[in-house]
Amino acid sequence: MKKNVLTGLRPTGNLHLGHYFGACQNYLKLQNEYNFFLEIADVQALTDNFNNPEKVRKNVYEITMDLLSIGLDPNKVDFFLQSQIPEIAELTVFYSNLVTVARLERNPTVKTEIAQKKDIFGNNGESITYGFLGYPVSQAADITALRGEVVPVGDDQLPLLEQCREIVRKFNSIYGEILKEPQQVLSETTRVKGLDGNDKMGKSLGNAIYLVDDEETITKKIMAAITDPNKIKKDDPANPHICMVYYYHKLVNKEHCENVCKECKEGNRGCVACKKELIKAMLDFLQPIKEKRKYYEEHIDEVKKILRDGTKNAKKEATDNMKNIKQKMMIDYDL
Ligand code: ATP
Ligand code: MG
Repeated sequence: MKKNVLTGLRPTGNLHLGHYFGACQNYLKLQNEYNFFLEIADVQALTDNFNNPEKVRKNVYEITMDLLSIGLDPNKVDFFLQSQIPEIAELTVFYSNLVTVARLERNPTVKTEIAQKKDIFGNNGESITYGFLGYPVSQAADITALRGEVVPVGDDQLPLLEQCREIVRKFNSIYGEILKEPQQVLSETTRVKGLDGNDKMGKSLGNAIYLVDDEETITKKIMAAITDPNKIKKDDPANPHICMVYYYHKLVNKEHCENVCKECKEGNRGCVACKKELIKAMLDFLQPIKEKRKYYEEHIDEVKKILRDGTKNAKKEATDNMKNIKQKMMIDYDL
């Protein structure tokens, strides 16, 4: 029996390079080896976008098209919508008894995200909602409702997976061994930095290069990217390791990046020329993705059918699993 892979993305914007190199490259490999459930996490997206349902709704289709355009095969991957699997919401309620508020407040990913979302949750997180604080619980429900054992993610997700494993262990110790502890799978690039040099490129951080960005947008973003501030003149030697342009060369211009590094250190490479070379490499890298995406944009009914079929399969898996879970919890009434 093949194991289940479960992973998810929040429909809060389009796919960016962080997703692609941090998580999606692994999806492409794993889709050939496992039963792959890919969740479009619309309920989780609402935790910090509760007042903007239009944004979440629109991005469900956007992100599904992005995922298809990078080469995920709908015959191998079940794309499903979190909100359409009520078992996930049920499990979230059951699990919420097994987690302390203090433990959630200590979760490093939650802490970082609360600090980044001062506009919604206040300067010191004083307006944090019950829903946002509890999203790791709902994420544990996502994974275990679909019997996910293998979870490909970027490294910002590791504290969330650790918390999920704790919930699984606690559940099994009380109600009996039924849930499997999920294992993460990390990509070679575990975390992609943002254009602003931030440790993480993120949709909510406004520092991303999106797979759908057009030539003009990419040119603007790369021309404004941060380089070594000590390099004043074109032929000053510089330190590529603190330069965001070199950083992205390493992702999309692998064959030439050694040369980029050498020339930069020797002072044989001006920043403008270096940025222009990166723009070209980026556009070449994105070209086949954009072509595939165009097909799906013109066949939106196909996209909807992929979501419908995937959700049906996910629902079947969750319903079957939930029967056994409720039995263990002694809430399997036959009234
Ligand atoms: P948001 O800001 O709305 O949370 P996000 O950019 O963090 O959006 P998610 O949908 O939360 O994207 O994450 C989807 C997956 O992509 C997760 O597995 C996450 O670890 C991974 N990921 C997101 N950003 C990066 C990044 N910069 N580097 C590596 N992996 C990333
Ligand atoms: Mg995120």
